[in-house]
Amino acid sequence: MEKPKLMDLKVFAYEKICADDYPENVHVYVEAECDNCGLVPFHVAVEHWNGDSPVAFHGIIRLQCSLCGREKAYLSVLEDGGKPNYNEQYKCKCDSPTFYIASCDRMEKIEDANVFSEGVVVGKCSNCGALQVIAMTG
Ligand SMILES: [Zn+2]
Ligand SMILES: [Zn+2]
Repeated sequence: MEKPKLMDLKVFAYEKICADDYPENVHVYVEAECDNCGLVPFHVAVEHWNGDSPVAFHGIIRLQCSLCGREKAYLSVLEDGGKPNYNEQYKCKCDSPTFYIASCDRMEKIEDANVFSEGVVVGKCSNCGALQVIAMTG
C-alpha cells in the first residue's frame, strides 16, 4: 500500500491555528492512528454538546478505523452540566465518509511549563483529498 502523504494536512493545520503569528509558542502536530492499523482514514462521528461553537468545540469526537472498525474516543471537551445536543457523521462534499485526521495544539510557555492554549482538529478526505476543519478547541 502506498504511504499516505499528509504534508498538506499539516500545512493546513498550522495555517488554521495561525501558527506563524505565534512564533514564540510550541505547536504540537499529531496524526491520528488506529492502534491496530496505523495511519489510516477514519469514520468521524461528532457529538456536539451545549455550548459548542465554531471556535470552541464542546462535545466528543469519535473515530472509527475504516479498515478494522476499531473505535476510539479521540477528543472530548465537556463541561459540568452540559449535555449532548446533536450528532453529526462527517461526510466530504464528494460524499466520502472517511478522513485522515490530525490535530495541532498550541502550547504557550507560561513560566517553565507549556500550557495548552488552543487547538484544531483537521481532516483530509481519503477520496478527493479535500481538507477541512473538524473542530477548533480553546
Ligand atoms: Zn484499524
Ligand atoms: Zn472528498
